[in-house]
Amino acid sequence: MYVDVTDFPVIDNHCHPYPYSREKRPFWRCFNSTLFEQTEEMAKSTILLHMVTNELRKFMGMDPASTMDEVIAERDRRYKADPKGWVNALAKDANLQEAILDITYPITAWKSKKFITQAELDEYYAEIESYKIHTELRFEYIYDPLISKDLLFGDFLTRYYKAMDAAVKKEKPVSFKSVIGYITGLDVTKPTYEQAELAYYRYLQDPEDFANEKVLRDFMLQDSMKLCLKYDLPLQIHTGSGNTPLCRLTKMNPLLLHDFLADEENRKVTTIILHCGYPFLREAAYVVSHFGQAHLDVSQMVYHAGLAAETGIKELLETCPFTKMLYASDGGGIPEHTWYTAKYFKQALSRALTYYVEMGVFDEATAKHYASLVLSGNAKRIYKL
Ligand SMILES: [Zn+2]
Repeated sequence: MYVDVTDFPVIDNHCHPYPYSREKRPFWRCFNSTLFEQTEEMAKSTILLHMVTNELRKFMGMDPASTMDEVIAERDRRYKADPKGWVNALAKDANLQEAILDITYPITAWKSKKFITQAELDEYYAEIESYKIHTELRFEYIYDPLISKDLLFGDFLTRYYKAMDAAVKKEKPVSFKSVIGYITGLDVTKPTYEQAELAYYRYLQDPEDFANEKVLRDFMLQDSMKLCLKYDLPLQIHTGSGNTPLCRLTKMNPLLLHDFLADEENRKVTTIILHCGYPFLREAAYVVSHFGQAHLDVSQMVYHAGLAAETGIKELLETCPFTKMLYASDGGGIPEHTWYTAKYFKQALSRALTYYVEMGVFDEATAKHYASLVLSGNAKRIYKL
């Protein structure tokens, strides 16, 4: 008996756009998020690159004996020849129905300021016709540009709320997001207005003043929770792995969110722990099982981490209820991330569910019901899609 959910429709609850013009790196360099250099030999010797190119070989109907390099060359040729045809064929193959896009990225733009442009977004929107697109907005993307304007603290906050209001009206996001873990860590405190005001002025005087930056950013996240309630939107919060060295993993353990999540006001906001805290999977699942408002996004476990889903899904489900787990890829930059993650996650989920049915935990119908929740049902409910 095999519980096959590989043809189930998928909603990707967290990913990024991939306009063709933004693909600047070779294909083999797109499966590790470190910003440090990687050698081609090293990247191609990962299980992940083998798995992705095996799946591509099948998808393109190539000779099983064709090499990894031949598969990549053929993929490059097909994508270049018809970007629109290629991205939509991949999405259809994965049965991708809807996607929630973080359009305020990449994280490197936090320093370089080279965010994805409106022209690039328009190019991407014009390419996609096989699935529905929703958006999400980062708090930091909206308030960071205002920090450098030397405003009075009260004016800074007023300008932030106004800018957010305009962005919400323009983009109609289905979620907010915070990347505070990247900048000052997930051990978010709850400073008073007066403490934040003082920290703001000190930080303006010295942008290298980490202690005061942390007080300010902690305040901004706590304060922005009111915006989640005002606009009736959930919060996605980055946890776990990311772009080394900007992402310092020691500051990214979801356990650090304890006080933030336990706060009485914050418990009113549906919060999605992004990337299942990878590699802190058990910690993320534990947090989700103890805080009613917390939910779990499974991204980072697949297209960054080879076979991790085989053991990872089971680790997460030790404590995470099926009603709180959401499928996502965190893909971006190239279309194969969202495609491959959906394909492979559904294969690994099928194997895990088969195991539970064989153990007598539940029957096949229940297994399929749970799969539909993880792959699309929970996202529909949480984001009101
Ligand atoms: Zn992301």
